[in-house]
Amino acid sequence: MNLIITNRCHGSCDYCFAKRFTSTNTIEFLSERDYRFVVEFLRNSEIPVVKLLGGEPFLHPQISKFIQLIEDDPFFERIIVFTGGMFEIDLEPILKKSDKTNIVFNLNATDRYTGRQMKVVEKNLRELCFYSDVTLSVNFSDPNGDYIYAFDAALIYGIGKIRWSVANPHYLDKARIDSLDQIGVIKQFGSLVHRFLVDAQELGFDLTHDCQVPFCSFNDEEIIGLPRRGLLSSLQNLCSLALVIGPDLRI
Ligand code: SF4
Repeated sequence: MNLIITNRCHGSCDYCFAKRFTSTNTIEFLSERDYRFVVEFLRNSEIPVVKLLGGEPFLHPQISKFIQLIEDDPFFERIIVFTGGMFEIDLEPILKKSDKTNIVFNLNATDRYTGRQMKVVEKNLRELCFYSDVTLSVNFSDPNGDYIYAFDAALIYGIGKIRWSVANPHYLDKARIDSLDQIGVIKQFGSLVHRFLVDAQELGFDLTHDCQVPFCSFNDEEIIGLPRRGLLSSLQNLCSLALVIGPDLRI
């Protein structure tokens, strides 16, 4: 279950899954009362993981309290905060190294940022790595896209974990949906994903993934190589239903 605690975001990722929330003119923040309500719902549903998303979760004025509430609650095993790194706040009072809090940092290719944005993103990535446990996140939205920038950043900042995902075209993105054959589009990412997996493995990164590609996206040679390279397990989990709750508790 993904909890969008605010629709406010300074980013403009082409693959943004949250456009339905971020494209409104009204800025919304999940209230503390509603947050506690959702936390109780998770507890009653025996879900020990809290996932905070945005927009940009670090723009929520109570992010510190929201994280601390979970840190202090022995029922919860993890709280994961997904960030695009586009914010200007002091992180020191908000985060402390703990086994419970994990930051998933969505990093885009350098040419997707302005010079000023890049500086902000780099500063926040550096500080988040200092104050917390970080997983770098790569979202493939272009079959001819790049991922070397993410490896470079991971090596610079000492990040060992990379989450990857094939970003699905958003259903509100009409220009894309008109030409859309969803599986056909996703299959175009096979070669890119294969190269990424092989290179990431060679560099020793610990990989997790979200939305992946079907096996029929790979050519014969790639498919045969997957078990030989020990990469089969990094592709074997089924997509499950994702429940997204907005700042006004809309689902
Ligand atoms: S940082 Fe997140 S919410 Fe903001 S545009 Fe990118 S994907 Fe969308």
